[in-house]
Amino acid sequence: MIVDLHTHTTASDGGLSPAELVLRAKECGVQLLAVTDHDTIDGYTSISEISTGELKLIAGIELSCTWSGVNIHVLGLGIDTTCSRLQAELSDQSAARGERAKIIGDRLAKLGFKDTFEGASALADGRAIGRPDFARFMVAQGYVDSMATAFDKYLGAGKAGDVKAMWPSLETIINWIKSAGGVAVLAHPLHYKLTNAKLRRMLADFKEAGGEGLEVCNGRPSPSDLNYLRQLCTQFDFEASAGSDFHQPSNWLELGCNADIVAPCKPVWARWQHVESTI
Ligand code: AMP
Ligand code: MN
Ligand code: MN
Ligand code: MN
Repeated sequence: MIVDLHTHTTASDGGLSPAELVLRAKECGVQLLAVTDHDTIDGYTSISEISTGELKLIAGIELSCTWSGVNIHVLGLGIDTTCSRLQAELSDQSAARGERAKIIGDRLAKLGFKDTFEGASALADGRAIGRPDFARFMVAQGYVDSMATAFDKYLGAGKAGDVKAMWPSLETIINWIKSAGGVAVLAHPLHYKLTNAKLRRMLADFKEAGGEGLEVCNGRPSPSDLNYLRQLCTQFDFEASAGSDFHQPSNWLELGCNADIVAPCKPVWARWQHVESTI
């Protein structure tokens, strides 16, 4: 079975429209797909209007939050997108994203980079604005030579543009996910560059707050990272998730993960394998 429980569309910082994403997922043989845009369900909501055929689609989201001063991403899988509480919270989250973008712009201005808020907003063109929009604008202006440099020097973890005070706590967003009937899965646990001890503290807090899953496979992990995450998943008794974290077509990362990759952990998708698609 081929699954993909972590993907982005143009509703957040992805390059494909929701319809294009679904088409590509079908071409890649994906049988179970979750759309998990950053802090928005708009992409998923528009997909539900088109036929998906053999592909089973579940609603998802990738929520930004903070834990112990670290910007953490939590996937909410199998959420009910009609949940009014979730919708209200997401509207606040969208406002927080906008406020954060202004602060990022102010901070970059202090470093001599002019009009980045305006430029990033124009690129975002009404959808959820994020650091990739700032990076793209900085490249277009010739402020930096690549998106990677923009993140390495100005936008990545610990840099001036890494504004995280706006995000809710880990506990808060797990509550939102649960109130919408979803499963909270900690996204890409090794991206936060935590020490082993701190990562374990985070996992313990995540579990305590109601988190149920761990993203054992994100993108194309190394064998050693995979082994480590499978061990953590088993030790903390989490359900395992797998996703490409696809943003746009590239020559090294494609949609779809072989379901076997998380074995011997218990897969989170067992929850939806026998459920008919809502489409
Ligand atoms: P934000 O949602 O505004 O916090 O932006 C985070 C997003 O930036 C991530 O989801 C990635 O898509 C993207 N990102 C993070 N680091 C990098 C990087 N080094 N190069 C390019 N994109 C990145
Ligand atoms: Mn992203
Ligand atoms: Mn993420
Ligand atoms: Mn992602």
